[in-house]
Amino acid sequence: MEYGTLEGIDSVSVVHPPIDGPARLDGSRVAVILLGAPGCGKGTLAFALQRSYGFEPFSTGDALRAEISKGSQLGVQIKALYDNGRLVSDEVVVAMVGEFLQNTDSGRVIFDGFPRTLSQAEKLSGLLADWCARVVCMDVDDDVVASRLLTRYSCKTCSKVYNEKTALPENGGVCDVCGGVDFVRRVDDTDAAILTRLQVYHEKIAPVVDYYSTKGEIYHVDASQSTENVFAVVSDVVFK
Ligand code: ADP
Ligand code: ZN
Repeated sequence: MEYGTLEGIDSVSVVHPPIDGPARLDGSRVAVILLGAPGCGKGTLAFALQRSYGFEPFSTGDALRAEISKGSQLGVQIKALYDNGRLVSDEVVVAMVGEFLQNTDSGRVIFDGFPRTLSQAEKLSGLLADWCARVVCMDVDDDVVASRLLTRYSCKTCSKVYNEKTALPENGGVCDVCGGVDFVRRVDDTDAAILTRLQVYHEKIAPVVDYYSTKGEIYHVDASQSTENVFAVVSDVVFK
């Protein structure tokens, strides 16, 4: 899993009632859909929503990394695209999402990194026909996310995400969460792959944003704010 911890969210989260509380969302199943450039903080926010409200996150990036590390034939095909920052086919990721929805009995889910193309968005609407969807677009400048990604690394054991410039472990080379001492960088967090990921993101996400805007379902959040503020704003969107 990719989800790091988020300091200071407990004080914010108590403000909100449980999602299935009285008069809230009529007891519908709720899917939060996070759109945003690589490095905008989707994973951190997903973790916060999981911890505070019990949402179950599904990251297509994590699912693809798991398939790559299995070394399956599909994993080998995915790796060639993934390493260079290209998108994996809609067919593959839609199948992964369909399987996740079939296997979860959670009534609260978060999609992190899906949909990334118009076709994925249209398919997801079909899969979520009887869900209440909350689409959140996390807006942040490319130069901000590129520098975040170039300095990002994570604990090899528990995947807690750190940053060389902004979020070092408290105790030097020891993971705050699990005490691990081995750290890794993502193979696609290189200059060239980051550039490709950002280009692909902007090209493919524009029609997705238009699609949700036309349906009146999208909320824009300034993701250059602190993680606590982003969490507070998104909580309001989810519970509104
Ligand atoms: P990031 O958002 O930081 O690029 P992710 O972990 O979400 O990180 O995705 C990493 C890579 O996995 C992408 O560059 C792409 O190759 C692949 N990927 C993830 N989600 C999708 C998707 N919905 N459709 C196609 N490819 C995807
Ligand atoms: Zn750790």
